[in-house]
Amino acid sequence: MDVLTKIPVREQDAKERAANFEEVCLGYNKEEAQAEAVRCINCKNAQCIKGCPVAIDIPGFIQKVKEGNIEEAYQVISKSSALPAVCGRVCPQETQCEGKCIRGIKGDPISIGKLERFVADWAREKGIKPEGAAAKKGKKVAVIGSGPAGLTCAGDLAKMGYDVTIFEALHEPGGVLVYGIPEFRLPKKAVVAEEIENVKALGVKIETNVVVGKSVTIDALIQEEGFEAVFIGSGAGLPKFMGIPGENSNGVFSANEYLTRSNLMKAFDGNSNTPIMHSKKVAVVGGGNVAMDAARTALRLGAEVHIVYRRSEEELPARVEEVHHAKEEGIIFDLLTNPTEILADEKGWVKGMKCIRMELGEPDASGRRRPVEIPDSEFTMELDTVIMSLGTSPNPLISSTTEGLETNKWKCIVAEESNGQTSKEGVYAGGDAVTGAATVILAMGAGKAAAKGIDEFELGYMPGRWLGYSRRSGIEQEKFYGKTYRFMEFCRRTFHGRERPGRREDEGFAGTH
Ligand SMILES: Cc1cc2nc3c(=O)[nH]c(=O)nc-3n(C[C@H](O)[C@H](O)[C@H](O)COP(=O)(O)OP(=O)(O)OC[C@H]3O[C@@H](n4cnc5c(N)ncnc54)[C@H](O)[C@@H]3O)c2cc1C
Ligand code: SF4
Repeated sequence: MDVLTKIPVREQDAKERAANFEEVCLGYNKEEAQAEAVRCINCKNAQCIKGCPVAIDIPGFIQKVKEGNIEEAYQVISKSSALPAVCGRVCPQETQCEGKCIRGIKGDPISIGKLERFVADWAREKGIKPEGAAAKKGKKVAVIGSGPAGLTCAGDLAKMGYDVTIFEALHEPGGVLVYGIPEFRLPKKAVVAEEIENVKALGVKIETNVVVGKSVTIDALIQEEGFEAVFIGSGAGLPKFMGIPGENSNGVFSANEYLTRSNLMKAFDGNSNTPIMHSKKVAVVGGGNVAMDAARTALRLGAEVHIVYRRSEEELPARVEEVHHAKEEGIIFDLLTNPTEILADEKGWVKGMKCIRMELGEPDASGRRRPVEIPDSEFTMELDTVIMSLGTSPNPLISSTTEGLETNKWKCIVAEESNGQTSKEGVYAGGDAVTGAATVILAMGAGKAAAKGIDEFELGYMPGRWLGYSRRSGIEQEKFYGKTYRFMEFCRRTFHGRERPGRREDEGFAGTH
């Protein structure tokens, strides 16, 4: 066996899959997984763990796969991750765990993602569940949003013994995992719904159709409904547009709307009550993963699809694997091209898009070469549908209805990276709502950190409690080491890592931290 080369993974044939919504990647079977696991050299100082935002014991679970003990491999993974079958499918491993794998220095890195997927699928098929909490704490925590950040935070808190309720605005839980990422990359029933069931099996309750900021506010959850802490994992679902003429025409979609109609509203199914228009020729504007998903969905719905992107292939922000799959399936890439106007017929329906050719100039603030228009290079594409995929930002509903919750100029909630603490006491946040659109595993890492932060908060790593006051006694300020801080600033500086007091014991401070 050549230990430098990874075991290839089976995939659906490109021509066949371009016409169906079934999963593209078929994953490893047990023999393939064990053969791949044998390539892992079980490094003492395993760099792969450092590349994983939720710090899965990667050599530990791979060792169990080598031994053929898949159930134990699953228990190792599920100590750190609530969504292994999801992560095994959609995480950008090439820049995370696999990007750091020592095996990758001289050959192919270990296919950690495919092994994780195999273990999670095997456990699901055998009905094996993660292990839950030994004892309950009798404390209630609310989690807003059921995407990867919310599910991870909720799952971790439930494992610690908290009574957790997730409030979700949509009628189905899962966030982008159900409404954004298409079925052919991430099956909804077989994978996402099952992993959400595992989180529920830990004792987490999920209330759907609750729009926090409209149905109920964060203050009401804390003051009237008895939740001791709140985690906000409400994502970044507000789409951006170009602001060019004609963008309001019929047949122009944001990628989020297009994908939500297809994934969540099952518009691709002829029998659905919410069908989507079956376009003939589609332009998807943008070059990220979301653009690839929208393009590949439109292709499966029967259209000729063009990706229109203003830089070159080298700058495409999408994962190489996604670009490769899109090309294999027949997506046409119109690179170094920028739309300037969308043209509509007399009834307001899209009939074309004016574009201009671009060339690359000097690097801009992002470090990438700036696209510059080539004079007199305008041309028109004939189309009936345009899908804008230019990124998203957080919806300001929660921040605008929660007094004292600080946001930045991009409307992202300001929160500590190490523990999710926001500017409002007892309120934590993480995932895309804080970082802007990012990745599943970063959202999960933030959910994990916030669960730890909430536990520390509830355990009383707070000055009020140590000094004999209750956390809710309304203390606004504390004196400490001769300085007066506002209450939250005091907690943040002192107990969440920014500025720990080194001389605490010398001064007779009776902390338990
Ligand atoms: C099409 C698409 C493809 C992607 N592909 C990948 C990929 O391959 N790999 C990868 O790593 N990442 C991918 N991402 C990014 C990734 O999905 C996100 O970074 C991740 O889902 C963020 O998780 P989150 O929990 O912060 O937010 P979300 O997943 O957005 O979940 C937020 C949840 O909060 C709910 N919510 C919002 N406001 C309220 C409110 N007021 N009250 C109650 N509930 C509320 C929303 O309905 C939603 O369910 C993709 C994103 C998209 C859009
Ligand atoms: S770095 Fe690569 S080879 Fe080393 S333990 Fe991790 S997966 Fe195995």
